[in-house]
Amino acid sequence: MDADDSNPSAVDSQISTADQITYWQSISADVDGMLGGYPQVSRIDIQFSRNFVQKLRRLDRRPTPSISTSTSTSHIASQAAQPSHQPPTNTYAFQHALEPGAGIGRVTLNLLAPLCAQIDIVEPIEKFTAVLTAPESPLVKHNQLCRVWNLPLQDWTPTSIPAYNATDSNDNHHNNNAVTSSPKYDLIFNQWCLNHLSFASLVVYFKSLIPLLLPSGWIVVKENLSSDAFGADLFDADDSSVTRSDANWRAAFTAAGLRLVKTDLQTGFPKELKLYPVKIYALRPV
Ligand code: SAH
Repeated sequence: MDADDSNPSAVDSQISTADQITYWQSISADVDGMLGGYPQVSRIDIQFSRNFVQKLRRLDRRPTPSISTSTSTSHIASQAAQPSHQPPTNTYAFQHALEPGAGIGRVTLNLLAPLCAQIDIVEPIEKFTAVLTAPESPLVKHNQLCRVWNLPLQDWTPTSIPAYNATDSNDNHHNNNAVTSSPKYDLIFNQWCLNHLSFASLVVYFKSLIPLLLPSGWIVVKENLSSDAFGADLFDADDSSVTRSDANWRAAFTAAGLRLVKTDLQTGFPKELKLYPVKIYALRPV
């Protein structure tokens, strides 16, 4: 690999984790804030991701237990998954998910909670995850939330001390989701947060996920794509992020030793919004 290959994105040097934190700290803890002023795309986004994950499960020819498909509205409060009781662990499609950059849990509550018995979160902004760790959070009530790290991905490792740990809950003798050692994940779902990592950090991060993944596990990445005519990655100074080309996402996967198993282009967003194209990628170690 020559020097150019190791740094495909000339704009990466402008990325600042401190600027990212300052930006997100100023953003309101609601779907509008999470989606940059386009809350109306939430329901379509979640439904597309749900279909994609179902396709992944069919690739492995697993039996399909029934899951909640409630998508009644795009607002987080009314979309929140609130099963009347916690299903037995073995009825979930996935046993343990990791969700980086979860924000207020738009994806966590609407996509992951009905599919995943246990969930860990990495999200730097504590005011976002406060809604997920509160006693009245559906994830806490149903014993699905294990750990929350309030750290940027650039600083996170699986051995970092979590800000929230179900083991610390008062009645942890009733809580079978308490985690004391590093678990293996069967789903690592990254959406609209990996744009905050430089190419080099992305590769380090992806490599760090490989030992955390069960053999049956999936790494899913759902991100915007650069629409630059020459395929350049685009820096956004507002939130200190980079919108990458499809080619550079793929280069990062390859550099980390990940194999692209399936990918789809998001459809259904209103054209008049003129949003970036959005792609979802499913990856496994080579
Ligand atoms: N994935 C969620 C939230 C998207 S908003 C959803 O799709 O609804 C982007 C999220 O990334 C915010 O919650 C923000 O705090 C988080 N974020 C910003 N910089 C980050 C970083 N360096 N590491 C991890 N997460 C980051």
